[in-house]
Amino acid sequence: MRIGIGYDSHRLVEGRKLVLGGIEIPFFKGLLGHSDGDALCHAISDALLGALGKGDIGKHFPDTDDRWKDASSLAMLKQIADLVTAEGFEITWIDSVVITERPKLAGHIEQMKQAISGAGIPPGIISIKAKTNEKMGFTGREEGISVQAVCLLMHRQS
Ligand code: MG
Repeated sequence: MRIGIGYDSHRLVEGRKLVLGGIEIPFFKGLLGHSDGDALCHAISDALLGALGKGDIGKHFPDTDDRWKDASSLAMLKQIADLVTAEGFEITWIDSVVITERPKLAGHIEQMKQAISGAGIPPGIISIKAKTNEKMGFTGREEGISVQAVCLLMHRQS
């Protein structure tokens, strides 16, 4: 059995699409990043890599590499979920918290889970929660969005 923890944050800027959990969410700002800036997929990816002891997302998808410019973070998450399988583990559970004042995410969570199932992580083993930061700090000032994620992996039965 392995556990992993992941954290990510990205700046909110005008002129970018807001992509979270593999879906586009209508908002007047989006997350700045070399990839699509999907901080939820990044935090889950880092939790999985942490559980595998395989470094972090920056090691696997360096932001100095043009292949990952504006890349789909969901596609990166799929590669990492495939790595979990290749290393002999299966994902038992993922829990996550997205911290943002706006936009409200509650109405988008089921659609995010459906999108993430495209990366090979079924909706029945993932929890996505949304919280504000009570207007405190950089998330509270709407300068950015942060995400925390944990995962549990089990050895696959052979
Ligand atoms: Mg990131």
